[in-house]
Amino acid sequence: YAGKKTTAAFTESMLNLKVKDFQSIPVVVPDDMTVYDAIIHMFSEDVGTLFVIDKDEILQGVLSRKDLLRSSIGTQDLNKMPVHIIMTRMPNIAYCVNSDSLIVAAKKLIEREIDSMPVVEETERGLVITGRLTKTNITRAFISLAETHDL
Ligand code: ADP
Repeated sequence: YAGKKTTAAFTESMLNLKVKDFQSIPVVVPDDMTVYDAIIHMFSEDVGTLFVIDKDEILQGVLSRKDLLRSSIGTQDLNKMPVHIIMTRMPNIAYCVNSDSLIVAAKKLIEREIDSMPVVEETERGLVITGRLTKTNITRAFISLAETHDL
């Protein structure tokens, strides 16, 4: 019986999970990068989502795998098209902060039907990206709960 927690304790530890303890390192690209280079970057960095920043390093947009695929179907020259043309842009970006509860962030991913969100610091200049929260991070947290609860 030792080490097993009650349902109440389980719920409490779930509510105590924070974004900052499960986030990943963000991968960012400049808004004038070409779509072609962004595709190469997504493969070389091995991520599913790229965050787009301006010259002041403020969050401007998000690029998903399907955003890049969609733009490749057309006849446009991917070497000439900057990513800011095709990205999902502010203010329509779902994001979270370090101190957010992981369960609230997870709910946001599901409700918005997205794979990941930037973790940001809100400044007067705009949103500064500090991390990346993905469905994989949520899955890891789910496993960590099981580990601390002696299943
Ligand atoms: P995919 O498009 O590869 O299935 P997503 O489900 O994450 O990947 O993205 C779906 C759409 O939502 C894309 O157009 C993408 O630009 C957009 N998107 C992804 N993440 C976010 C986010 N954090 N906030 C707003 N829009 C997003």
